[in-house]
Amino acid sequence: MQITVSAGKGGTGKTTVAVNLALALSESHSVEFLDCDVEEPDAGIFLKPENENSEPVTIEIPEISEDVCTYCGDCSEACEFNAIATFSENVLVYPELCHGCGLCSRVCTADAISERSKIIGEVRRGSTGSIDFYEGDLTIGEPMATPIIRDMKKKVTEENISILDSPPGTACPVIESLHGSDFALLVTEPTPFGLHDLRLSVKVAREMNIPVGVVINRYGIGDKSVEDYCEDEGVPVLMKIPNDRKIAELYSNGVPFVNKFDNWKGRFNQLFEEITRIVNPRAKSVEV
Ligand code: SF4
Ligand code: SF4
Repeated sequence: MQITVSAGKGGTGKTTVAVNLALALSESHSVEFLDCDVEEPDAGIFLKPENENSEPVTIEIPEISEDVCTYCGDCSEACEFNAIATFSENVLVYPELCHGCGLCSRVCTADAISERSKIIGEVRRGSTGSIDFYEGDLTIGEPMATPIIRDMKKKVTEENISILDSPPGTACPVIESLHGSDFALLVTEPTPFGLHDLRLSVKVAREMNIPVGVVINRYGIGDKSVEDYCEDEGVPVLMKIPNDRKIAELYSNGVPFVNKFDNWKGRFNQLFEEITRIVNPRAKSVEV
């Protein structure tokens, strides 16, 4: 079961939900946690992984042999990212635009393109209790998060519960995080801004044929527009986390609130049961 916790914008409590869900489930299930928010990974602050080791993530950047290049321009024409430009007497590669797809070298009939590996970040692996913890980290200045997320997702195993903490928004890194997921758990706030971003997240997940459910964080502030929208759209609201000062204080100290409030462990396990029923409507119950 692969559950991606996503949110239309940062600061809604996405990581809080992902971390607390993982901790609650880890008492009775094998859980993997993947922090896919590779530009600002912060789940480790709460899960405090131990025994971390890291592996670099690379992409292949083209290099041109000018002595055999005919300056035909086929490579530039093929590159949809404008990462390679052909002039009358030279070819320029813009590594910061290159996605490492390798298409340019395949279309070059003069065999003038070789490739060199470029490190764009790393994936760290550690453990938190029984949770296998993975964290992607994009090198500062590198623009492309998706290869790191793709690389990290190779660690996902079928038999475990995988909780993915997606980047915020609805851009490519979010699509990459959601890809292959069984369920999108969308975290929002009960405000007009929350509703605006939630609409976009629901649209993206539905276009990817991924079932969705909503967690309303800081319940009690704002208005009822998120609940009204969910009712109208048939989107289940699976949990409401109150706007509670004690929860906020624990968050600011890097403490997951299920570790302090035992009743929330049960609620997150119920949340998982609901998700299981939505993903597999014929499942009667899940052992927790
Ligand atoms: S496709 Fe090959 S030969 Fe043509 S311009 Fe590009 S590198 Fe040179
Ligand atoms: S590897 Fe792909 S993205 Fe990079 S220059 Fe070649 S065609 Fe463009």
